[in-house]
Amino acid sequence: MTKPGKSITVVLASRNKGKIREINQILKAVLPAIEVKGLDEFPEIGDIPETGATFEENALIKAQAVSDKTGLIAIADDSGLVVPALKGEPGVYSARYAGVKATDQDNNNKLLEAMKGLKGDERKASFVCVMAAASPEGGSLSVKGEWEGQIGSAPRGDKGFGYDPLFFDPELGLHSAEMSPDQKNRRSHRGKALIKLASSWENFMVQSQKMSIKK
Ligand code: IMP
Repeated sequence: MTKPGKSITVVLASRNKGKIREINQILKAVLPAIEVKGLDEFPEIGDIPETGATFEENALIKAQAVSDKTGLIAIADDSGLVVPALKGEPGVYSARYAGVKATDQDNNNKLLEAMKGLKGDERKASFVCVMAAASPEGGSLSVKGEWEGQIGSAPRGDKGFGYDPLFFDPELGLHSAEMSPDQKNRRSHRGKALIKLASSWENFMVQSQKMSIKK
């Protein structure tokens, strides 16, 4: 049964190593009472299709599916890059922008090509991250973090993953791939969403416990 205030094991519903590394790092700081297992410890769980039309829907679909399959609390994120001048693309399709088997490099190349000729405010972009949690009792929670910046004209830096080489943060004057993990976590959409998740965690646990009593 899910109990508030106790150390508990949660499953992180992701196999993306870059994301798992970042989420683990931040979760350790904001929710020290939880022990995180990755989806790689549950090889029997196959890929969960991201069939939702929004980041919220996809994050909840993944968290609920993994919680149902493991009987544990699951945390899932759905994230991506939103470029208003490209009508919100790549958005929920960020990981497969240049095709289902696209590499980060393919996606970055496609984005640079799509942004050719765009200047000033037209290069504005934001990273969005929705973190969802689901408990076996049926409790659920979702929170959103956003990071505003611009798409640079060429890649810079070799850290991070995904679109980090192209994403420029004007406040720090750095591309995301030039930031140390701590610098990125303090600014990022994922860092902001995880801080919100931590502040709602106790309520989520209480809600789940009440549902288990009713069952
Ligand atoms: P998801 O696994 O469906 O959430 O896809 C997320 C995709 O969005 C990743 O594969 C990246 O392409 C992109 N993305 C999300 N967060 C970041 C980030 O922090 N840096 C760079 N790219 C990101």
